[in-house]
Amino acid sequence: MTSSITTTQDLHDLTVAQLARHLRERKVSAVETAQHFLKRAQAHTSLGSFVDVNADVTLAQARAADERIASGNPGALEGVPIAHKDIFVTKDFCSTAGSKMLAGYRSPFDATVVAKLAGQGMVTLGKLNCDEFAMGSSNENSAVAPVGFSQPHPVGNPWDTSRIPGGSSGGSAAAVAARLTPVATGTDTGGSIRQPASFCGITGIKPTYGRASRYGMVAFASSLDQAGPMARTAEDCAFLLSAMCGPDPDRDSTSLDVPAEDFTRSLTTSLEGLRIGVPKEFFSEGLAGDVRTAVDAALNEYEKLGARLVPISLPRTELSIPVYYIIAPAEASSNLSRFDGVKFGYRAEKYTDLADMYKKTRAEGFGDEVKRRIMIGAYVLSHGYYDAYYLQAQKIRRMIADDFQLAFKQCDVIAGPVAPSVAWKLGDHGNDPLADYLADIFTLPGSLAGLPGMSIPAGFGEGHMPVGLQLIGNYMQEARLLNIAHRFQQATDWHVRKPEGF
Ligand code: GLN
Repeated sequence: MTSSITTTQDLHDLTVAQLARHLRERKVSAVETAQHFLKRAQAHTSLGSFVDVNADVTLAQARAADERIASGNPGALEGVPIAHKDIFVTKDFCSTAGSKMLAGYRSPFDATVVAKLAGQGMVTLGKLNCDEFAMGSSNENSAVAPVGFSQPHPVGNPWDTSRIPGGSSGGSAAAVAARLTPVATGTDTGGSIRQPASFCGITGIKPTYGRASRYGMVAFASSLDQAGPMARTAEDCAFLLSAMCGPDPDRDSTSLDVPAEDFTRSLTTSLEGLRIGVPKEFFSEGLAGDVRTAVDAALNEYEKLGARLVPISLPRTELSIPVYYIIAPAEASSNLSRFDGVKFGYRAEKYTDLADMYKKTRAEGFGDEVKRRIMIGAYVLSHGYYDAYYLQAQKIRRMIADDFQLAFKQCDVIAGPVAPSVAWKLGDHGNDPLADYLADIFTLPGSLAGLPGMSIPAGFGEGHMPVGLQLIGNYMQEARLLNIAHRFQQATDWHVRKPEGF
């Protein structure tokens, strides 16, 4: 093979776009690429990001990719490695959803998103750590031992391993930031793609609710859950998202009847005249000064690129916290009722009768945060409280969605912080779940409305920790969002900064 790459040493610094080209032009093989990344994952097990790897499976996929390249008929992402959040079920790797309840579980099928990416020729490196059933903001709720550990161990943030990577897609964000994989999948129910992307200095996008199939994504809150890519650049996210989206009418009845789209087509469109809505509620007292400074500078950069800042209001921003923490647990309590020790997953060893088996299985199999949400969910759905909590929350959810539509009359896109602070220290929110919930304030409104949202690297704050800028678009505006993100990345270099030691 003739090559501009003489060693495979710098493969992990290439973007998905560059890697795909090198592979197609046979400057490097899929097997060499897979070996390179497997070696890196092994060298950095202390980060705790992977929960399952299987070199035999990965290399077999890579060999098949090389054959397709040799036959002259490669897929768009042929041979490019990817790792999946362990909330997507996979037949060749474990599918735990970060829970003891699914320890050692193997799915008989691949999630639609996983299958679609494999269909484009992507090679799976393994599965990535996440909060149990995607409930959390720090990845500290995972009950699964990462590769290289015999006990559950928190994922480190590559920028400072004494800090959290964010959650629930913390393993995905950490692995991409540490260049253990060029790209990863994530899921976002209330911010789980955007917040860890922000905390780890990478780029992530959650598409419009319904654009990507939820089939094979272990369900948390079905009216909110969405899959999306986490990568280093907006361009890479565009490549991935193009492969992930599309209707799945037979398997996900909430998937939208909107054809798959090439999200790379308008990445370079000019931002001249773009109206960026800046919600005043996103710049309230709770926003840390370092985050505010970075976000302000990013907004300034957009002005230089030809955009105009428009002050807007999203008056029910604060209400999004109680609304989300009623609706999401309500749906979770229903979704998690399937884990009863009968059909699959964990079953208590000792019990007296069927009812006792259910009780012990669920008491032993679920972690504290999951139990807390099941109880909240069962409570708000119960007779006598349904009207007072659940129904009220649904009404306000609609108002929040309407607020966005009003705002989009004045602007084309909304920008602001992703989270009120940079990534905090491991254990800092220890016994205070409310501290985690409150930190979701800027991602929840867009989630409740079902809107597409992104996080892009926009600088550094306290402790030299990354700060993300959040971009929220109107329904189906993913191509525009990615264009807005890409232009920013052409003008700045935050997204190419690298954590030391990786
Ligand atoms: N932090 C939020 C929660 O714990 C969001 C999680 C997510 O988006 N999966 O519910």
